[in-house]
Amino acid sequence: MSERKTKLTIRGLTKRYGAATALDHVDLDLADGEFLTMLGPSGSGKTTLLWSVAGLNEPDGGKIWIDGRDATSVPASGRDIGMVFQNYALFPHMSVSKNISFPLEMRKVGPQDRSRAIKRALEMVKLEHVGDRFCNQLSGGQQQRIALARAFVANPSIVLMDEPLGALDKKLRDHLQLEIKRLHGRLGMTVLYVTHDQEEAMVMSDRICLMNQGRIEQIGAPEELYFQPRSLFAADFLGESNLIPGRITGEEAGCLVLELPGIGTVRTRTTPPRPHGPDVVHFTRPESIAIQADAENKANRLQGRVTDVVVSGAITKLFVGVGDVSMKISLLTQGSQRVRNGELITIGWDDDVGRVLSPSRKAA
Ligand code: ADP
Ligand code: MG
Repeated sequence: MSERKTKLTIRGLTKRYGAATALDHVDLDLADGEFLTMLGPSGSGKTTLLWSVAGLNEPDGGKIWIDGRDATSVPASGRDIGMVFQNYALFPHMSVSKNISFPLEMRKVGPQDRSRAIKRALEMVKLEHVGDRFCNQLSGGQQQRIALARAFVANPSIVLMDEPLGALDKKLRDHLQLEIKRLHGRLGMTVLYVTHDQEEAMVMSDRICLMNQGRIEQIGAPEELYFQPRSLFAADFLGESNLIPGRITGEEAGCLVLELPGIGTVRTRTTPPRPHGPDVVHFTRPESIAIQADAENKANRLQGRVTDVVVSGAITKLFVGVGDVSMKISLLTQGSQRVRNGELITIGWDDDVGRVLSPSRKAA
């Protein structure tokens, strides 16, 4: 990322609505051509951030630069931005072509260049044949593709998308996720995407910015957020995990030694942020735990009894009772050893796949 230009810089961005703080001193950098997803629960400030970048609200503090220029007080029409929102209505009684033409007219593009660009944009979303129809004659999925075409048509500096697929059914959503990814790959635009759907964020993004109560909880590559959460909030928000309360009892050879009541002693490499007190939560992903022969050479080994085996296609999920705790383990169905309900098995994980998290749900 270091060799790429910075497209968007945000420093100290703060936005309040009365007593509520929607954005609390947010700092963010987007590289040119990057696809960054804002992920977080409802009310965490994702839409507010997008609106600030678009110039649709007035921040209470902080600055925004686009292409190195201070855009903080540039009006929305002066920012070179394309937008797709979940309910960002197309003009229903205008033709598709007229809708797509809108950002071009705003930019004073001449008629000939306009019709060329509209044709290209329609081809891009594979809807060449609907240019003359009214938008309200199209299906929801087609309308959203027209909205994409409109966002991309003027070749803007940054494309903002706020839950653009939120209203669509799963099949169409999966399809359009790929389509957006493909468009991004081809056109190389900088995209700031918003979703509350962690799977969507994992599939689409170069980096994910996890939001919590108006602040950035953690930002990084999808696999980094998934396997190396820095807080209980991040661990919990993305997928399934084994979260076991315990205490730090010592430190040796770069590892924290933890006592997990009802389970025993485990060792986990020390990684930042270091929890403040001795009371912690031990984190592992179900995918990080091995069983039987594969568990033999792991730093942490325990015995447990299988209480459930759930085969869901390529993945088999085991629930294993270890002491008083039920641990989730997920294995590839193919090639993994068969285990039966009630069987006593060995489970194990390396000291570099667990994480020691602060028990507070706030960022450390
Ligand atoms: P998200 O998009 O992550 O769901 P929002 O950015 O919409 O979150 O909202 C962040 C916080 O700001 C929420 O607490 C929300 O209630 C509040 N908020 C957003 N817009 C307004 C508004 N126009 N007036 C008052 N409060 C608002
Ligand atoms: Mg929102």
